[in-house]
Amino acid sequence: PRTPLTLLGAGAMGTALARAWLAAGHPVTVWNRTPARAEALAAEGATRVRTAAEAVAANRLVIACLLDDASVGESLDGADLTGRDLVNLTTSTPAQSRARAARAEARGARYLDGGIMAVPPMIGVPDSGGYVFCSGSGALFEEHRDTLTAPTGARYVGADPGFAALHDVALLSAMNGMFAGVAHAFALIRREEIAPKDFAPLLVSWLTAMAPAVHRTAEHLESGDYTSGVVSNLEMQVAGIPTLLRTAEEQGVSTELLRPYLDLMARDLAAGHGDEDGTGVIDLLARTAPAG
Ligand code: NDP
Repeated sequence: PRTPLTLLGAGAMGTALARAWLAAGHPVTVWNRTPARAEALAAEGATRVRTAAEAVAANRLVIACLLDDASVGESLDGADLTGRDLVNLTTSTPAQSRARAARAEARGARYLDGGIMAVPPMIGVPDSGGYVFCSGSGALFEEHRDTLTAPTGARYVGADPGFAALHDVALLSAMNGMFAGVAHAFALIRREEIAPKDFAPLLVSWLTAMAPAVHRTAEHLESGDYTSGVVSNLEMQVAGIPTLLRTAEEQGVSTELLRPYLDLMARDLAAGHGDEDGTGVIDLLARTAPAG
């Protein structure tokens, strides 16, 4: 028999997860603040309960997939967490996850945090490429690995309960930077007779070809030698900046997305790092951030 579990939250993601667990044969007890939203799951075999406290009492394994950290706090308020294994798949910040872990442990639970790297249509689909970053109690993760990986993959990234959120947000942040570049590129061709659908594959293959440079950046950060394997040095890259800015101007495109990164490259060059390829920008950013 499959491990029975409780799910708090039947939103878009919670519902997709519940369906995958039901399909894999796990008995699911579900609670949703707005009861009507869990009706479909009840019809598909889940047990619907009226309060979060009841849901938590129903099973040792309790999974929360709610809107944000505040909604998790509200939902768990009146519940007895003694002896529970709480898995919180709600997107949060590292500090929120750490505080959530400390509070859950103080109330007698083991805690695992998760950051979902998938959209609902990827859940329950084998080899969709989706997965969940997990961090916190390694014992909880090992014991429930099969259950936790039934809907989609899982990657345990450490005992620090904040690490899942940190990995999640770091990848999402990189994605935003990528889409910022994509937005600028499409804006440049927008008023020309270049079909976006012809341009799109060029953009995808270029970004794909450039992405492995991430590994060189990692090597630089690991070794402290930012000059090894440099292909396009910063001096050359910064020399090309006026061309990027003038092209935007010629095309009537705002440089507001492009400029912040170019400015950082110029600062890194001015700091004497022309023979590197921009890894130093990371140090400029990390130094700018407030400590702690
Ligand atoms: P939805 O907006 O579809 O659902 C939100 C859920 O949170 C609902 O169950 C809602 O209940 C509940 N909720 C909101 N506020 C409260 C509250 N104060 N108290 C109790 N329950 C509350 O969101 P998703 O299901 O899409 O997302 C859930 C989590 O999954 C989020 O943290 C999201 O970041 C993450 N995620 C979502 C992805 C996606 O593509 N959808 C991708 C990756 C992660 P009610 O029905 O009563 O409003």
